[in-house]
Amino acid sequence: MDSSARGPVNGGISFWYAHDGLPDRRPPLPGDADADVVIVGGGYTGLWTAYYLKKADPSLRVTVLERSFCGYGASGRNGGWLYNGIAGRDRYAKLHGHEAAVRLQRAMNATVDEVIAVAAAEGIDADVHRGGVLEVARTPAQLARLKAFHAHELSYGEHDRELYDATETAARIRVADAVGASWTPHGARVHPVKLVKGLAAAVEALGVTIHESTPVTEIRPRHAVTPYGTVRAPYVLRCTEGFTADLKGQRRTWLPMNSSMIATEPLTDEQWAAIGWEDRATLGDMAHAYMYAQRTADGRIALGGRGVPYRFGSRTDNDGRTQEATIEALREVLTAFFPALAGARVEHAWSGVLGVPRDWCATVTLDRATGLGWAGGYVGSGVATTNLAARTLRDLVLTDTPTDLTTLPWVHHKVRRWEPEPLRWLAVHTLYATYRTADHREESLRTPGTSRLATAANRIAGRH
Ligand SMILES: Cc1cc2nc3c(=O)[nH]c(=O)nc-3n(C[C@H](O)[C@H](O)[C@H](O)COP(=O)(O)OP(=O)(O)OC[C@H]3O[C@@H](n4cnc5c(N)ncnc54)[C@H](O)[C@@H]3O)c2cc1C
Repeated sequence: MDSSARGPVNGGISFWYAHDGLPDRRPPLPGDADADVVIVGGGYTGLWTAYYLKKADPSLRVTVLERSFCGYGASGRNGGWLYNGIAGRDRYAKLHGHEAAVRLQRAMNATVDEVIAVAAAEGIDADVHRGGVLEVARTPAQLARLKAFHAHELSYGEHDRELYDATETAARIRVADAVGASWTPHGARVHPVKLVKGLAAAVEALGVTIHESTPVTEIRPRHAVTPYGTVRAPYVLRCTEGFTADLKGQRRTWLPMNSSMIATEPLTDEQWAAIGWEDRATLGDMAHAYMYAQRTADGRIALGGRGVPYRFGSRTDNDGRTQEATIEALREVLTAFFPALAGARVEHAWSGVLGVPRDWCATVTLDRATGLGWAGGYVGSGVATTNLAARTLRDLVLTDTPTDLTTLPWVHHKVRRWEPEPLRWLAVHTLYATYRTADHREESLRTPGTSRLATAANRIAGRH
């Protein structure tokens, strides 16, 4: 069969693994064991935490327990936007004051630099390209939101952010119907899997023990319980993000929300000439059901958005398989943005899970009395935030004296749990259907006001 007639590979965890290869698995936990710190989950959060703990104190015995393999979750499937966004900043400003949130934003800006610097120091080649982040508006309502968003970000001290009109936007990237854009230098493109694989290898080289194919079924003070034995440690850190609902007692803690992506075949020089995008900034938009994309190092477009956002009962995963309707919807976004790609083949489609707290605010916490800690609830902004969370967990474990990081406003934040089913399922599906309707209304009305539907949906969802 002509390969161009074939549909995309669906699942296989992600395109990034198809591209870079699945890793060999490390051996599972052989039986009961002791450690100083046990980390549950081998994504960016768990691995960065192990990295910084071991760097700070090489004598610490740090063990990572990973249900599948390091990078199986969102850390091996994401859009590769290493950027300075953090879920909940505006709420933290309301709760702790504007200055506290400005400190958090500055810490996030510095985190982008930190990840790039550590990757370079550790010899991790993650296809990093520092082109910043460009967010475009394609309707009058999106443009009004873009301008408000731009001014809002400036108020958090991002004075190097730039606002572009339609012509200036087109000089950077030719997105159909784009009427303006906001650009920040605090972002870079990465290859998510190269980053997570390199990080796992660096952590292991420091002397951290990693056991894969080892599911933790229960976390108790000083115990991480698995079918193969229990690891006892004064500190047990939960770094399971979108999979947290599978742990005993955690079903309603963070809602596992799906995000789906597609990757095109490598584009031709003519196609790239039509699009531009020479600075390789990561690309997003201002729609309510927003999209995100990157130009990959090998000349493809990897593009994502919310597909089927949430499965009943907090079910999480089937190795990244995604629904045909979602693939089609993402393909439509691709060609709406870049009509020149109408004939381009989509090679791969996949999905992954994010962790969404009831108030959409990321958190990092350690209770020194029980030794239980966790970090997550990053919603869609975890590639950089996980690194800040990890350095904060390090400080929380190693000292009870407040540090610059442990006094940031997202530390020790408490939030109520999600509603039981079927309310949870109904709420999320209604929310995303509403966002899609709001986007359609804004496109057809072409007036600058944000659809009141979306504003209402945000309020009901607890997002603002
Ligand atoms: C499709 C998609 C696109 C995204 N794009 C971006 C982006 O461009 N930029 C951005 O900033 N963020 C993005 N994100 C979010 C970002 O990828 C995540 O916030 C981040 O990777 C979270 O890392 P983590 O280590 O906390 O969680 P994960 O990477 O999900 O790791 C959790 C790990 O825990 C393991 N685990 C789970 N339960 C257990 C258990 N019981 N026992 C042992 N191990 C367990 C899992 O197997 C997994 O490996 C995206 C997410 C998705 C899904």
